[in-house]
Order: sequence, then structure tokens, then C-alpha cells
Amino acid sequence: MTTILRHPKEVREFSAALKRQGKTLALVPTMGFLHDGHVSLMREAKKRADSVATTIFVNPTQFGPNEDLSVYPRDFEGDVKKCESAGVDVVYAPAPDDVYGHGFQTYVKVEQVSQGLCGDKRPGHFRGVATIVTKLFALFRTDIALFGEKDFQQLQVIKRLNLDLDLGVDVIGMPTIREADGLAMSSRNKYLSPEERIKALTIFRAMNEAKHSVANGQLRANILIPQAVATLEQAGFKVDYVEIRDSTELQALTVVVPNVTARIFVAAYMGKTRLIDNLEISAG
Ligand code: AMP
Repeated sequence: MTTILRHPKEVREFSAALKRQGKTLALVPTMGFLHDGHVSLMREAKKRADSVATTIFVNPTQFGPNEDLSVYPRDFEGDVKKCESAGVDVVYAPAPDDVYGHGFQTYVKVEQVSQGLCGDKRPGHFRGVATIVTKLFALFRTDIALFGEKDFQQLQVIKRLNLDLDLGVDVIGMPTIREADGLAMSSRNKYLSPEERIKALTIFRAMNEAKHSVANGQLRANILIPQAVATLEQAGFKVDYVEIRDSTELQALTVVVPNVTARIFVAAYMGKTRLIDNLEISAG
């Protein structure tokens, strides 16, 4: 049975009761409209802790003024069913006013790792992410928290804030879950028309082309990136960025050197829908 909590006070009581019983907690923060990517995090959480909490909260501070906050897809009842069948013990779904109360003015800003990629394209986004995740870590006093590599820069931001603020949470990154044809699962895929959905697969194809080029000895970012951009544009994407960076500090790489874990990062618009994805393309 999954219990639904609406108020921070209830979460504090839940967390305190767990601690009293000496039980461990794993947290899976989400914005809802859950799919198998989210469920994979919950199932892993279940293996790693005595109790699992999922949060469903479309966090206003991580959306820019021209972004899709008000139309972000929601299906609370369906989400709770998925949580229940994944064995989630608690769903926390607060009202925005209970998260950002009157006079709220404290934000968490992670400096370097938040820059570039989505940090540049979505100003303020990672400040919103870092703030809500810090608040959730503090509220739940969780032992473990799981996040998807689908949002790879976000994962690095969270690992960094967890270290820098001595929060002591075991932050775990999990592989991207994809549709059968390779499209990364995302709540935003719902916005795609059937034709756009077919074309959207090109992100995975472009990233794999880069991976194969690297395997065949083409290591130069100034060749690999334009190749990927061309593939995406041919399919009708408007490219926001394609970059190749190392997997820990997220520094831009001009050459995919052996012994450095390299990733290609893509953000591109299919119609009005902005999709992101990334893939490891390390040499040798
Ligand atoms: P969101 O609801 O989009 O904020 O995502 C909540 C969590 O699920 C984040 O940690 C995401 O990285 C993760 N996630 C989203 N899509 C996927 C996916 N396709 N595979 C694995 N994890 C995912």
C-alpha cells in the first residue's frame, strides 16, 4: 500500500518514524507523468533500502518564463498506480505553496557544473533543480537518492551539491531507459505527433553515428559534432546544442582521448518539443 503525503510536516514525521525503527530510505524525485524510466529508479531503490519514497512535484523554480510549466503533462492517479506496483511506500505530492512558502528567498546555486549545455540554454534551471533537491534531501533525511543519466548534467549538479553541502546522501545515477527503437523515455514525448515521434528517433541515431565514428578512429569533436548536427537537421530537428564533454567535470573535449570518459550531449527541438539525450562515446 502506497501512502500519499501532501505536507512537509507529514514527511518529517514519516522520516523520523523510519529513523526510530533504524530503517533506511531511498528517494526518487520526479515531476510525475511516470514512465518506465522512472519505474526503473523505483525498482532499484527498492533493492537498496528498507523504504522507498517518490516525489511527484512539477517544480516551478526550474522552469523559465517561456517554458512548459502550465502544460506539463500530469496524471496523478496513473502515477500512484505505477508507484504502487513498483513497491513505493510513500508518494510525496505537495502543493507549490507548501514548498515555496510566503517570503521564500533561499536558493542553491552550483557554479561550474551548472554552466554550459542546458545551464546556458535554460537560465536558472539548475538553480531550481539544486534548490528543490536540497530541500527534499533535508526534508526526507534520505540515505539514498536515485536519478537518471538521461539528465546527465542534472545528475552531476546533484552529486556536486551533495558533496559540497555535506549532505551525505548516496547519490546513484541509473542508465537511460529507451523505447524499443532507442528514443529515450521522457514525459515530454507525449507532446510529439506520430510523425514527430518517428523523426525523434534520429537523436539516438546521430549519437550512435558519433559513437561508431569514434570506434573507427575519428576522435575530433570538430568533425563529430557537425556530423551529428547535419543528421539531426536532415530529420527536421532545430538543434539547441550538440557537444562532446567528459563525463565527470563536463569539460568540453576537442578530441575524444582514450582514458577519458567522453559523452555526446544533444538538445534539439522537434516542432515545439525540446528533447535531450546523451550517450557515452569513449575511445578504446
Ligand atoms: P523527471 O520527472 O523528468 O524530472 O525525471 C525524474 C527522474 O527520472 C530524473 O532523475 C530523471 O533523470 C529520471 N529519468 C527520466 N527519464 C528517464 C529515462 N528515460 N531513463 C532513466 N531515468 C529517467
